[in-house]
Amino acid sequence: MSDTNTLRETIATLKYDAAGLIPAVIVDKDTKAVLMVAYMNESSLLATVETGKTHFWSRSRQKYWMKGESSGHVQEVHAIYTDCDVDTVVIEVTPHGAACHDGYYSCFYRRLNTSTGQWETQGVPLFDPKDVYKKSQ
Ligand SMILES: [Zn+2]
Repeated sequence: MSDTNTLRETIATLKYDAAGLIPAVIVDKDTKAVLMVAYMNESSLLATVETGKTHFWSRSRQKYWMKGESSGHVQEVHAIYTDCDVDTVVIEVTPHGAACHDGYYSCFYRRLNTSTGQWETQGVPLFDPKDVYKKSQ
C-alpha cells in the first residue's frame, strides 16, 4: 500500500471545480468502452482508491454513493489516470453488471443518427431497472 499522506496530497492537487468536484470517466479495462461519467470529490476519490470500488458524489442528491450499493453492480478499480490539465480523471474498471441505471452495459447506449436527427438505442438492457431498484424508483 502506498503512503497515505502522499496519496492524500496527490489527490488534493487535482483541479476540482468551484463545488469541489472533478468529472470521472469510467472505462471498461478490457473493452475500453466508456461506461459512464460521474462526479467525484476528494473524499470519494480517496474512498475509490482505498476500497478499490468506484465512489461518486451525486450532485442531484447531494450524497456520496458507491456504484453498485443498491444494484450490486460494483466496479472494481484497476487504474486511475488524469489528463494534462489535471481536471478530469479516467478510471479503468472491471464492471460487475450494467453501468447504467437504465439497465444498459454503458450509459452511452444512444447514438445520434445524423440522417434522421434521432437518437438510436444500441444493444439491449442487461436488466430491467424496475426489478433492481424496487425501493428507490
Ligand atoms: Zn446511465
